[in-house]
Amino acid sequence: MTVVGATRSAELMARAEGLFPGGVNSPVRAFRAVGGTPRVIERGAGPRVWDADGNDLVDYVGSWGAAILGHAHPAVVAAISEAAALGASFGMPTPGELELGEAIRAAVPSIERLRFVSSGTEAVMSAVRLARAATGRPRIVKMAGAYHGHADALLVRAGSSATGLPASAGVTQGTARDTLVVPYNDLAALESVLLAHRGGVAAILVEPVAANMGVVPPRPGYLAGLRRLADRFGALLVFDEVITGFRVARGGAQERYAVRPDLTVLGKIIGGGMPVAAYGGRRELMELVAPLGPVYQAGTLSGNPVGMAAGIATIAELTPPVYARLEEYGQRLEAGVLDAAAEAKARVRVARVASLLTVFFEDDARFGRFFAAMLHAGVHLPPSPYEAWFISAAHRDEELRQTLAAARSAFAVAGGDG
Ligand code: PLP
Repeated sequence: MTVVGATRSAELMARAEGLFPGGVNSPVRAFRAVGGTPRVIERGAGPRVWDADGNDLVDYVGSWGAAILGHAHPAVVAAISEAAALGASFGMPTPGELELGEAIRAAVPSIERLRFVSSGTEAVMSAVRLARAATGRPRIVKMAGAYHGHADALLVRAGSSATGLPASAGVTQGTARDTLVVPYNDLAALESVLLAHRGGVAAILVEPVAANMGVVPPRPGYLAGLRRLADRFGALLVFDEVITGFRVARGGAQERYAVRPDLTVLGKIIGGGMPVAAYGGRRELMELVAPLGPVYQAGTLSGNPVGMAAGIATIAELTPPVYARLEEYGQRLEAGVLDAAAEAKARVRVARVASLLTVFFEDDARFGRFFAAMLHAGVHLPPSPYEAWFISAAHRDEELRQTLAAARSAFAVAGGDG
């Protein structure tokens, strides 16, 4: 493996900048957090991707978590091809919806009924609407720093006394006001907000393992505490398992930590790389959704057969030995990264839950240098200091060796004590 430059990537990105805002179709891809030019990816296989200059990169972006089997897994490719040959979308019920829906319900028992949609954003937005309808209350609580997609109500940051302020231009004060923001892992802060807004909070929305502020595991008792507070104040507990679902365990974080939410949002892995997401939960709640109930929600491409086939094939591969392997790779990567950092006297912390890992640096500039050095050595990390590295079941000894060799020199480049 020799990584040469990124000439063709740079040319393609220059063209893309004349077409898409920032040259990209989702902002984090633009490398603003790390500097430099994104690699344009032409293909992937297993744990690796190839950029437009032919560089072979060990991939920890993994489509931001969707690619848990690695790229172009043969069973998933076959399922997609077979389904596509029969027609990509009918806008009518198909057998695949049933098969994937039943497999999800079997894995995540709190989901008694569900609805497929096409993105995590759409799923969270719909779950929030449902929670408001079910409780007749306007407000929701989210955790500071958590990302739940780009629906207006979720693009909100903390203002004084937890009241929300728009975190994006175009979000109205009125919308932001109904979103309350408290720190993750802080039950006391949540309790005081629920007391202050007694009778007004429809839902407590949380990523059970925070994975969009770097990986932050829940403190012992935190998720059970959320369950108790939700019950005490009559709010619904909504787990956003778009990242953790089928990753931290087959049944997601709710299985791993044994806490049952009222509603669950899934995405990423359940589509095996295709645009599929879902929200679901207790039957009486989901029966409020149209056409049975008054909560309107619809989608032309929802449950489309190609996405369903990719999801079915993906989760069929997620057996206990696969989870054991993901955990083992995660452990070895964590230990190896810590050793490499110690050798280079780089002060970092590593947080990991299963196959999600973040290396926290003292400052973003150091992460930027580390990122660039890793990329130069053929390791493609998520281009932001506050994202998880996504390990796939296709990552093996060879990828681990290459990653750790790269990390040893990248930590030195990133700067130790200086
Ligand atoms: N929720 C979480 C926890 C996410 O990480 C994301 C996306 O990364 C979303 C929701 C939004 O999903 P999508 O990008 O499919 O709209």
